[in-house]
Amino acid sequence: MNAPAKIAPETSAPIDPLAKMREPFPDHQISKLPKETGAQAKQRKADQEAGKWPAKCPVCEGFHHPRAVHLDYVGHAALTDRLLDTDPNWSWEPVALGPDGLPALDRNGGLWIRLTVCGVTRLGYGDADGKTGGNAVKEAIGDALRNAAMRFGAALDLWHKGDLHVESEESAAPTRNAADMAIQLLRGCGDAGLFKEAWAKNFEGWKQLLSPDDYKRVQAVKAEIVAKFVRDADEAKAREPKPDPAGAFDITDDEIPF
Ligand SMILES: [Zn+2]
Repeated sequence: MNAPAKIAPETSAPIDPLAKMREPFPDHQISKLPKETGAQAKQRKADQEAGKWPAKCPVCEGFHHPRAVHLDYVGHAALTDRLLDTDPNWSWEPVALGPDGLPALDRNGGLWIRLTVCGVTRLGYGDADGKTGGNAVKEAIGDALRNAAMRFGAALDLWHKGDLHVESEESAAPTRNAADMAIQLLRGCGDAGLFKEAWAKNFEGWKQLLSPDDYKRVQAVKAEIVAKFVRDADEAKAREPKPDPAGAFDITDDEIPF
């Protein structure tokens, strides 16, 4: 008898309470996860056994191989904060219980959960990434929550490349993945300064680590991002006289023209 619920696409205020889940996370809630390749982890461990620890990383304050790349991620505290902001009554539950009444893991050691936010339930899956004991359970829960929250769009921009597990050395990272990580790192740089720093810090390592084709792929992405920053800068300076518009083309493939 009533008119159908009104849809108001023109209002700017979100009418969907779940839209909160998709809002970008502020910088201070984004953490840096170092990601070593299998070879890097092996070398770092050998060095440590020989008494040589890597220097403390200025980016993540961890002790890892100096050429490891960093992935942006949202930690458990920030994610929980977001869930509470969206719906103070959010909840999760395991999909299955074992005979002991506790959350059941599947044959792969993974945990399926249902995450409910604002009355909407979506599935998530997490695993312990090789951890054992109590830490394994916490890791699996955290991973499943991240995975389920992603189904609601939380931090989708950070996670679109895959999960956050640091690869174990057994799964020795194929160079294809290393190239993808390099590209993700470059694309994740929000401004020209960060981008320049990330490139300067990593390109020598990438050159050594990656196959020539993969390195070319990374260079192509770098060129694309440089072009965008140059374009942005040009637009910003549109009202000022340009000193040398041709200068940007005199650079080698490994340099950045700003
Ligand atoms: Zn680091």
